[in-house]
Amino acid sequence: MAKRQLTIIGAGPAGLTAAIFGRRAGLDVLVLEKGLAGGQINSTAEIENYPGFKHAGGMELGKILRDHAEKFGPEFMDCSVESVSFRDGDKTVVTNEGTVQTDALIIASGSSFIKSGCKGETEFTGRGVSYCAVCDGAFFTDAPVAVIGGGNSAVEEADYLTQFASKVYIIHRRDEFRAQKSVVDRALANPKIETVMSSVVLEIAGQDMVERIAVLNNKSGKTREIPVEGVFVFVGAAPNLEFLTEESGLKRARSGWIITDEKMETSVDGVFAAGDVREKYLRQVVTAAGDGATAAMAAYEYLSNEHYLQTALLETERAAVFFMSSIDPAHLALDREISAFAASSGKKIITVDGHANRRLREKFGVTSLPAMLELSRGKKIRAAAVNSVHDAKTFLVELR
Ligand SMILES: Cc1cc2nc3c(=O)[nH]c(=O)nc-3n(C[C@H](O)[C@H](O)[C@H](O)COP(=O)(O)OP(=O)(O)OC[C@H]3O[C@@H](n4cnc5c(N)ncnc54)[C@H](O)[C@@H]3O)c2cc1C
Repeated sequence: MAKRQLTIIGAGPAGLTAAIFGRRAGLDVLVLEKGLAGGQINSTAEIENYPGFKHAGGMELGKILRDHAEKFGPEFMDCSVESVSFRDGDKTVVTNEGTVQTDALIIASGSSFIKSGCKGETEFTGRGVSYCAVCDGAFFTDAPVAVIGGGNSAVEEADYLTQFASKVYIIHRRDEFRAQKSVVDRALANPKIETVMSSVVLEIAGQDMVERIAVLNNKSGKTREIPVEGVFVFVGAAPNLEFLTEESGLKRARSGWIITDEKMETSVDGVFAAGDVREKYLRQVVTAAGDGATAAMAAYEYLSNEHYLQTALLETERAAVFFMSSIDPAHLALDREISAFAASSGKKIITVDGHANRRLREKFGVTSLPAMLELSRGKKIRAAAVNSVHDAKTFLVELR
């Protein structure tokens, strides 16, 4: 079974950016991708909100991202990830092409929009049918559009679209919105919005581009045609996480998105998530790329800490470890004094920034800083609060 340093699931903007940052930090990087590297943007005609590119085709930007990542030499593997497991610190990724063991893992497998399922939806995707108002709203300036859905996203995006569109119809199959009342009230007060309740879109039709929709009122049974140039479908989206089971222990939001902190760390040590797959406010190329960069640097830090932990803390017969906080000037001053004492007395003391190394703090049960620990091959022998050089000296007297 191959063992890798950093494995990335997904080669969309998040995964490719993580690969660039990971390789530039000197890591051995393996990228697992089941489709075309570049990700979801490969399926969009044009992108005009990614900084540095006033206008680019989706396939074009996908290729630029791929080429850029390839320049730094990560290994790409064409495969579909089927399952992952995290046990006792081991991270195993099972693909249809074999199994990979990895020290750190970044999940960047993106998300999928749920389709409304009406006739013409697939045919006109990219030719008037869209799943993203921020991405495509500006292409419908002064044109009438329809929004399908009744949740928060649908109603908020309909409101957003009114700054471009001449009129926005919200088509919802129920007679009441599922969205929050404040969101609905704001949308209903907007003169450009017309709601079409208890109705479903039967068909999206046109020549080359969308020209109209056929809508069935499920109470009256009557069908009407509405002329529109765009149809925005907001009936939901879901993370691409078919390979993740409950047993993985990875914390997820109610709707399935992976929960991370600002360093893209998940609830499992050494497992990170980046891009559309995680719980976040805005799902776009620029935010996915930012997440990828952060995740790779956090993975680098994790791997460095693990290495340090392994060599300095876990493999030493006896070690005195001083845990302090690098953002507290008093701790920094004390660290200088303790280091000077260590140098003059020949004692070996390892300093750990407990502020930056939450995981190390948790691992050794350090609840308050500054503190000193005696470790034997990674096992805590004893610990004490250390607020002065005198405290440190007293602690070190008993160091065996
Ligand atoms: C039609 C459309 C238009 C858009 N327009 C814009 C726009 O104008 N501007 C903008 O900023 N954003 C736009 N977006 C959104 C943008 O594409 C996404 O926010 C971005 O691609 C997210 O990047 P990601 O890397 O997180 O995920 P993705 O791009 O979705 O990449 C995830 C990758 O993971 C792979 N993967 C998934 N599961 C597995 C598995 N089990 N094994 C192996 N590989 C797997 C997928 O094949 C995919 O390549 C648009 C999206 C769509 C669909």
